[in-house]
This record gives sequence, C-alpha cells and structure tokens, in this order.
Amino acid sequence: MSQPEIAPIIRTEHLSRVYHLAGEDIHALTDVSLAIYPGQMTAIVGRSGSGKTTLLNLIAGLDEPTNGVIWFEGQKLAELDGEARLQLRRERIGFVFQSFGLLPLLSAAENVGVPLRMRRLPRQEREARVAGALAWVGLTDRQRHRPYELSGGEQQRVALARALAARPHVILADEPTGQLDSQTGRKIIGLLRRLVAEQGITVVIVSHDPLVMEEADVVHELRDGRLIATRQKETSRS
Ligand code: ADP
Ligand code: MG
Repeated sequence: MSQPEIAPIIRTEHLSRVYHLAGEDIHALTDVSLAIYPGQMTAIVGRSGSGKTTLLNLIAGLDEPTNGVIWFEGQKLAELDGEARLQLRRERIGFVFQSFGLLPLLSAAENVGVPLRMRRLPRQEREARVAGALAWVGLTDRQRHRPYELSGGEQQRVALARALAARPHVILADEPTGQLDSQTGRKIIGLLRRLVAEQGITVVIVSHDPLVMEEADVVHELRDGRLIATRQKETSRS
C-alpha cells in the first residue's frame, strides 16, 4: 500500500517508558514508533497491562518518556514548557475516559462548561459551545440533569460533549465503552465515528473491544509494551 501524502498529526519515535517501583523496573512501553493521521479513527488495542494508557498519557503530554520522541502537530512535546503543554491539552486535545469523569454535583451543561471556564472564555461563547455540543450528542433535553440522573451511556455522551466543546483537533478516548453494555458502547463508537466524518476530528481510541477494531481505520496492537502489529482498513485510504 502506498504511503499517504498527508503528514501525521501525532508521531512517536522509539518511545519507551520505564517505571521504577519498589526497586523494580517495569517496562510499560518499549521502542514504540507509530504515526497517527488526521481525520482518521485510530485504535490502540491490547490486553490489560500492555501499555495502552501509558502511550495515551505520553501522547497527551501528561507523562514523560524514558526514551524517544513525540511530535504533536509537528512540535516536539519535550520542547514545550509546562504552560505550553497545558494550553495544548486544553485547546487541542479532548479526553474521554472509561469512568466518564463527570463532577457529580454539576449538571450536564455545567460539566460540559468546566474546561471552557478554565480557559476563561466569555460567557456567551461558553453557553453557545455548551448548547452546541450537547445538541450534537443528542442530550439537549438532559442538560439540567446531574450525572446520577443519567444512564451510563448518557453520562459518556456528556463526557463526549465536554471534549467536543473545546473544539479539539484530537480526541483521546481511554476504553470509552469499558463500563457500558455492548449496545450502548456501539452508540458511543458511532458518535466517535461521526466526529471523524462530520467534524474532521482525529480520534484515538484505546480499547480491547472487538467492535472498536472493526470500526477503526487503523489498528495498532500492543503486547507487553511493544507495538506488534499495525492493520489498516482496506477502504479507509486509497
Ligand atoms: P493498559 O492501559 O494497556 O492496561 P498501562 O499502560 O496502564 O496498561 O500499564 C502498562 C504497565 O505499566 C503495567 O504493567 C502497569 O502495571 C505498569 N504501570 C502503569 N502505570 C504505572 C505507574 N504509575 N507505576 C508503575 N507501574 C505502572
Ligand atoms: Mg489502561
């Protein structure tokens, strides 16, 4: 298959992360080189403990590699200072987690607005973005509900709206269907798929859900911290 002309949005080169715990070295990630292309849904799969979350944290600049380099939109992450990284995470990356990560005392709309407040966006713009994002995930009629008044699938859609409201370039989702039944999980994956198609957002999903592997344009498989396979969907790029 011919290589695409498009530059990767994220690239890792010989990435390794060794944790030191109680005098022991844990090789969470070893020599991982991969490219993630814009406008695609990329899956990172592998068993529990294979290094998926470690890789996602490194890409997000939440953790430092022991070795290797990460490029995010052509910038080396290691060359950004703390403030620049924070800005990158707030403005260009959206996060979705297995456990939703919603604040229990806030309504759906307030939860979606939290990152926009941290960015000190003007109130009118915040309200417009919150309403737009909740409408996009189909939860306009649940905006006053608190997390405990919502189903798991609805809570994950709020989390997705929160990520979306930041207008990120990339959404990093760590096992977003891990706490959902398969039918609800399918809906969340469908929404992520539509984000790629309709809004051109690059989506990276960490998962061991077979459905994610079916839906993704590219699947990177980790085993014991190493990249052992990369599979490309036939139809995703010609
Ligand atoms: P996955 O997300 O694929 O389940 P992780 O990236 O969370 O895997 O973990 C990879 C390996 O690194 C595991 O063996 C895990 O126990 C270890 N690990 C993860 N985080 C830490 C940490 N903060 N300190 C020590 N070891 C860790
Ligand atoms: Mg994990």
